[in-house]
Amino acid sequence: MKQMIVGNWKMNGLSAPSRDLVSAIAQGLKAIANPPPVVVCPPFTQLEALSPLLKGTGIALGAQDCHHAPSGAHTGDISAAMLAEMGVEYVILGHSERRREHGELDETVREKTVAAMDAGLTPIVCIGESADQRAAGEYQDVVGWQIKGSLPDNFNGIVAYEPVWAIGSGVPASPQDIADMMGFIRAELTRQFGETGKTTRILYGGSVSGREAPSILPIAEVGGALVGGASLKADAFLPIVRAAI
Ligand code: 13P
Repeated sequence: MKQMIVGNWKMNGLSAPSRDLVSAIAQGLKAIANPPPVVVCPPFTQLEALSPLLKGTGIALGAQDCHHAPSGAHTGDISAAMLAEMGVEYVILGHSERRREHGELDETVREKTVAAMDAGLTPIVCIGESADQRAAGEYQDVVGWQIKGSLPDNFNGIVAYEPVWAIGSGVPASPQDIADMMGFIRAELTRQFGETGKTTRILYGGSVSGREAPSILPIAEVGGALVGGASLKADAFLPIVRAAI
């Protein structure tokens, strides 16, 4: 299974620069022999415009959140079915920024994950400990509980390990820390989901750059990268894509 590189644009991307960015990524991908699967996750407002531009480029479309209900009285929210209708194939759920800024709990994330799967989307469920939790030595407990609480029994999707302290810091977790946590997450997934858990794709996210990717992507159990800042410029994103194994 070739590694997957996912760009999380977060709250960045007006129309013209978004179009330019995907066309530059598409152009760069053409020059890569046997490119890995690439997903871009722009803000909701760009999904419909970008969807047709991605056809035939090898770039799939992802969103950054969805509501757990299919429709109804939920002002300001977007359902998984609405995303699917626009050609979205992936949705990031439970990102630490949503857990922090929108009070999302593991249970919320689990409900959204079920909704995403029901709509035919592949959920990318984010887990990861804070700096305080790491300092207190609680990181495995925290991540273990997030796995138990955020993933439904019939989970079929991708898990992203994003230590909160590494996100946006410019310094990823060390290869040793990543290796330890990947091994732990694989063991938990296998314990919880049996055979499926053995093959669930696990991404690493948190300050992945073209410079760091060649030392992160070869780590055992790393199935790709979830990239924030470096996904906003083609010349920062493409070196990560090229480093995929
Ligand atoms: P950075 O790559 O900017 O650290 O962001 C990581 C992230 O949060 C991706 O979801």
